[in-house]
Amino acid sequence: MNHILALNDLHNRQELSPTYDPWDPIRSLQQHGRHVLTSVEMTVSNLCNMRCEHCAVGDTLVMVEPAKMPLDLMLRRLDEVEHLETISITGGEPSFSATTVRDYMVPLLRYARSRGIRSQINSNVTLDYKRYEQLAPYLDVMHISFNYTSADDFHQVGFAKANHAVSKETAAKMYERMIDNARRLSEAGVLVSAESMINFRTHHKIDEIHQLIIEMGCKRHEVHPMYPSSFAKDLPMLSREEMRAAIEKLLDTRDKSVWMLFGTLPFFRCSTNAEERQLLARLASEPNVTVRNDPDGRNRLNVNLFTGDVFVTDFSDVPAFGNIEKDRLDDVFGRWLNGSLAQAIDCHCPAASCCGPNLLVKDMYYREDNFLERSAIIE
Ligand code: SF4
Repeated sequence: MNHILALNDLHNRQELSPTYDPWDPIRSLQQHGRHVLTSVEMTVSNLCNMRCEHCAVGDTLVMVEPAKMPLDLMLRRLDEVEHLETISITGGEPSFSATTVRDYMVPLLRYARSRGIRSQINSNVTLDYKRYEQLAPYLDVMHISFNYTSADDFHQVGFAKANHAVSKETAAKMYERMIDNARRLSEAGVLVSAESMINFRTHHKIDEIHQLIIEMGCKRHEVHPMYPSSFAKDLPMLSREEMRAAIEKLLDTRDKSVWMLFGTLPFFRCSTNAEERQLLARLASEPNVTVRNDPDGRNRLNVNLFTGDVFVTDFSDVPAFGNIEKDRLDDVFGRWLNGSLAQAIDCHCPAASCCGPNLLVKDMYYREDNFLERSAIIE
């Protein structure tokens, strides 16, 4: 690893913004003329102090976890990725174990800084601030989930799947700590990005949730529809019409000074539904609003650090198709791209800056559609 520490110079690093989002696979597609691996997500924990109702990886959470693959092996595999631009660290709650923070997360973030690549941690930030303080100097984005309008909401959603009772008082303390930690991290210069899901609980009050996120000092509000899958498969599914209405409401009431990032939307410019195309046109024309193409399988892979297995996302049912003990990540990515699953959704309409639906969206709303036969309708 010969990356020059001078790259670490904050002043030389382009600020993450609506015009610079290196997680969006459309950038690498435009740059290289094909999908390339620019992003690696690593699952470093299956432990969590919460049991959220919507958790995408809830069925992998455990009380005691096994040892992880050696850090050196992971760093070597990252080093081999020719076009690496971003890393993400996820869990469970990745910072649940202080040892994981010290022995994996801090070194991975330092590696990213030294190589001049950008980093994100997905965390619930409900633990003691000291955990996050160690990470802040090397971290670009702290990604948190925020789907609440009160501590009671947090209690109801955050412990829905807990197998022991969690008191309202305990939940309220965690809620306050989460808000306080988010504020402190923002003040420390980390881009705190709060993600809300549009689902049966939130779609009527997404504007109130947005307001609280602004008050917490978050610099970005990320909004995704919730797709009931795996652990959350028993939750009701919203219609595309309800989702569209919630997004319109948010656009009407949002704080326009804050970056809003929408992702995994079930709407495409090739749709025959004019209202959906109009919504996309509105999203494209609003200031400080971006619609990110889904990175999973487009420019990103997920590595499970307990087994070394490599997946296309951290939560899908698609089995692993490589392992860092024997495979280079660029080779695994090439294998994925050449597979029938990836090719079934491999469309690209440059005029719409779109590179197709993700697997969950296709499966949930467009099972019978062949996106390879469609193209964007630009009015
Ligand atoms: S890239 Fe695919 S999903 Fe996007 S507008 Fe074109 S055909 Fe539709």
